[in-house]
Amino acid sequence: GMNFKGLLKKNWLLIATILSVLLGIGLGFLVREYASFSQLDKQYFGFPGEILMRMLKLVILPLIISSMITGIAALDSEVSGKIGLRAVIYYFSTTIIAVILGIILVMTIKPGISQTAEHIDREGTTPNVTTVDTLLDLLRNMFPENLVQACFQQYKTKRKELEPPKVSINTTFPSLINISIAVVENITKDYKITGSYSDGINVLGLIVFCVAFGLVIGKMGEKGRILLEFFDALNEATMKLVQIIMCYMPVGILFLIAAKITEVEDWEIFRKMGLYMVTVLSGLAVHAIVVLPLIYFVIVRKNPFTFTLGMAQALVTALMISSSSATLPVTFRCAEENNHIDKRITRFVLPVGATINMDGTALYEAVAAIFIAQLNDYELDVGQIVTISITATVASVGAAGVPNAGLVTMVIVLTAVGLPASDVTLIVAVDWLLDRFRTMINVLGDAYGAGIVQKLSKKELERMDLMSDVDVANPF
Ligand code: ASP
Repeated sequence: GMNFKGLLKKNWLLIATILSVLLGIGLGFLVREYASFSQLDKQYFGFPGEILMRMLKLVILPLIISSMITGIAALDSEVSGKIGLRAVIYYFSTTIIAVILGIILVMTIKPGISQTAEHIDREGTTPNVTTVDTLLDLLRNMFPENLVQACFQQYKTKRKELEPPKVSINTTFPSLINISIAVVENITKDYKITGSYSDGINVLGLIVFCVAFGLVIGKMGEKGRILLEFFDALNEATMKLVQIIMCYMPVGILFLIAAKITEVEDWEIFRKMGLYMVTVLSGLAVHAIVVLPLIYFVIVRKNPFTFTLGMAQALVTALMISSSSATLPVTFRCAEENNHIDKRITRFVLPVGATINMDGTALYEAVAAIFIAQLNDYELDVGQIVTISITATVASVGAAGVPNAGLVTMVIVLTAVGLPASDVTLIVAVDWLLDRFRTMINVLGDAYGAGIVQKLSKKELERMDLMSDVDVANPF
């Protein structure tokens, strides 16, 4: 149960965070107008925000590891399999719905078919990867060769020289056949690829490892209990840290947003890209206000908007820092404390969701790809639209929960239908803004997933409560 003081404190934090956003916007514009900052001073200005990001990122690693391992080990493998399956079905179906929603909107609004095209600056460089590289990297990262390295680096294929996309344009259903051809080409000509590691936690690899490790620990009996207790204590300690970090959040967010506003160079781009942004944002809004709440209501039979309100702190955080991974600590707290979702569910559904379930990103990728096709006067047939739906889904799974990740995996979608990957540069200028909103929807989708999977798994959870001799609040 939650006492009044706790409730008050939580609301105070939320109010403080929202105020800090407004203050930050005000401060940003003031500084922009009246202070003449050099590039260097601007960096100093954003420093308190940088510290917030560092602290949030700091707790991701112990949080993911402890919550995944204990979450899996606490469920017996039959139950965890069922819960996992339900989660995956939820992730997949909501992502597909988001993609379809995006496609319907972009084909109705047609933001790319207008005079806008002439005004857009087409300069830029091709991102240096292909579809196949991205897909293979996804698999490689699932099986890290070094666990310690996976805690701070992930595998990313780089190419020595620019190459045109390997997937051809004119086949009706290009993806599967051409991808397999390209796989073979890539394997046989791998001297062109320079495999390398880049900064960023390999969350996917850690998740795969933790699931396996958790399953094994769960089966080990008495000996496994020691490990389980260790990771459970680690989880509790990490959540206490999160609580402390959240007190600093209003300060950090104030300077993050103020610094961002002093940095924006081209406001004009918003007018030019207006209709495109309206399409993406309205799609995200419909998904958040209609689609997800409707599914939740049909399955859970509770007020979805109370649920959304409970996630408010996490949503504001996602909006401000555009990273679902870095928001994860806050997502956990909101889901467990405000929406009272069972820890056995959140520990599994939230970390996996933050990595692979990105409704906002999927919707965005589909809209952006068709927008680019419209700008190019490129007629898409039904097969290509299906291809876009599938690849947008894959691209959202492949995107890491970090800022602008969706922009990089955009390449998968574009090359699959034969659009030039370099056209990603057309939408880069407004990505810092759209990224925030799609990240917010990504986080909301994960939270709803936890609520829905909990409801669907009610029987198993109750049976576990009855069967176990340990108390419910602390399953270990
Ligand atoms: N920034 C997004 C997230 O963290 C990913 C994306 O770029 O779409 O969820």
